[in-house]
Amino acid sequence: MTVLSLRDASVVLGGRQIWQGATLDVEAGTINVILGPNGAGKSTLLKAVLGIVPLAAGEIEVLGAAPHRGDVRVGYMAQSRAADQLATLTGRDYVGLGYDGPHFGWRRDPAKSATVQRALELTGTLSFADRPLRTLSGGQRQRIALAHATVFRPQLLLLDEPLAGLDIAAQAEIVDLINLVRVNTGAALLVVAHDLNPLATITDQVLWIARRQIRSGAIGDVVNEQTLSELYGHPIEIVVTPRGRRVIVGLEEEFAHPHPHGHDHSHEDVHAHFAEVYDEVTK
Ligand code: ADP
Ligand code: MG
Repeated sequence: MTVLSLRDASVVLGGRQIWQGATLDVEAGTINVILGPNGAGKSTLLKAVLGIVPLAAGEIEVLGAAPHRGDVRVGYMAQSRAADQLATLTGRDYVGLGYDGPHFGWRRDPAKSATVQRALELTGTLSFADRPLRTLSGGQRQRIALAHATVFRPQLLLLDEPLAGLDIAAQAEIVDLINLVRVNTGAALLVVAHDLNPLATITDQVLWIARRQIRSGAIGDVVNEQTLSELYGHPIEIVVTPRGRRVIVGLEEEFAHPHPHGHDHSHEDVHAHFAEVYDEVTK
């Protein structure tokens, strides 16, 4: 089932064309990673899906309708997270705010505490949900933010840079959790990221924004050196680790166009070393 489609869609902000002619589809139960340089319009794409940013041209359909604010079928974790500003609240209270948001004005809602509890269970945050957010690690806070965004079990979940600022172990935990949410809820996810590597094993489709175009491709079609070099706007090499993981590595110009004669450190050595270290830290 297609949960999101754009047809020839364009967005203009402050008189400037952000992207144009975007045509893409997102299927239920898939993980879709959005890549692109700063300012390319990644967050803007999520806001168009939320109905916060209107299209200047073209069409967008979200779960069979025009996007509209307050649609509980769409979950959203913003780039600068409220969880970081409301640090004196407990995680449970913060997830409760996610519940209240669309129900603002309701007097009493007997379903609230059970619904919040379920979101905390789903995201594995129960053991620290009653502590103030400020006492939590970045990874724990990110899990709470995911509970907040998934409190209504959305069919479409939008995550704006959920891995930003996390170390490699915390990133791996969040990636596992993102996949768990997909498996448990059948939701489609749009995940903005700067690096495809930590997400590559769970990614179905890559959407990348460059030169005001949004392009899309199945992960298997995208992860080759030519497409990735285009996508990142920088020469890229793919290294296969001894465990068979494919790792995307940015090349220095020198490696991209190697000098034909004598060099002190060999290209192969550097990458073999990198692959070893990478396997080490990602278990
Ligand atoms: P990304 O998330 O890819 O870094 P954004 O989607 O946040 O990029 O922003 C895309 C571009 O749109 C940026 O150049 C940003 O400055 C601009 N922009 C964002 N919001 C507005 C706005 N409300 N008015 C005018 N320009 C905006
Ligand atoms: Mg952004």
